[in-house]
Amino acid sequence: LANRMFHPEDTIVDVDGIKIGGKNIVLIAGPCSVEGEDQIVRIAKEVKEAGANMLRGGAYKPRTSPYAFQGLGTEGVLDLVKARDLTGLPIVSELMSVDKLDEFVKNVDIIQIGARNMQNFDLLKAVGRTKKPVLLKRGLCNTIEEWIMAAEYIMAEGNPNVIFCERGIRTFETYTRNTLDLAVIPIIKERTHLPIIIDPSHAAGDYKLIESLSLAAIAAGADGLIIEVHDEPENAWSDGAQSLKPSKFNDLVAKGKAIAHVI
Ligand code: PEP
Ligand code: MN
Repeated sequence: LANRMFHPEDTIVDVDGIKIGGKNIVLIAGPCSVEGEDQIVRIAKEVKEAGANMLRGGAYKPRTSPYAFQGLGTEGVLDLVKARDLTGLPIVSELMSVDKLDEFVKNVDIIQIGARNMQNFDLLKAVGRTKKPVLLKRGLCNTIEEWIMAAEYIMAEGNPNVIFCERGIRTFETYTRNTLDLAVIPIIKERTHLPIIIDPSHAAGDYKLIESLSLAAIAAGADGLIIEVHDEPENAWSDGAQSLKPSKFNDLVAKGKAIAHVI
């Protein structure tokens, strides 16, 4: 179903009138974790002002340590809804388990399947039974073929609204958190008709690298970016080191627009 051979034209996923795919470049920005209503509303306003089209924020967090902050759960989802009400930005958040599916279908605009759940087949089938757009992150150690097959799981249940998201893969390299694989952009575009966006934040692990990787992704033909932005990265409850301040995000948007214009 994802195969370009049987579907030559690009699929465009429509999220409340915002089109992902085709000629558009969609910018999704926001903190790694929702930390409360004030924080998410504040950041939502700032990223909107800078030119973001959608807001991200995790309410259920897949943390390496069980003792690390696990997310605000339902409260965090409702804080995102509040931020959407106040800014009009559609919201993207990660679903970690099937038992929260109804909450996500009711409240969020794009359901994110995190890297660690890329091959959680029950979860893929569950989101496949809805019509919600799904942001399918590539697993930490998964091949492109496995990733396309994960999309196929969602589509086979009847949901055509799948967006790929490359967020870096594990390699021997330690200077970056992960290694951003930009080759996936032309490969996914050749093999499938689905949109693909890039997450330079989780790939780099370091805010200083975000701008270069973002511009490279746009130049390589990505349909959008998802970037972690926090107004106090040093105090962020998760992933502060890779989060841009709103002013830096603003600069990046201006440079990105210049490149997109040239392409
Ligand atoms: C996230 O988006 O905050 C996240 C946990 O991403 P990933 O699943 O790519 O690690
Ligand atoms: Mn994060």
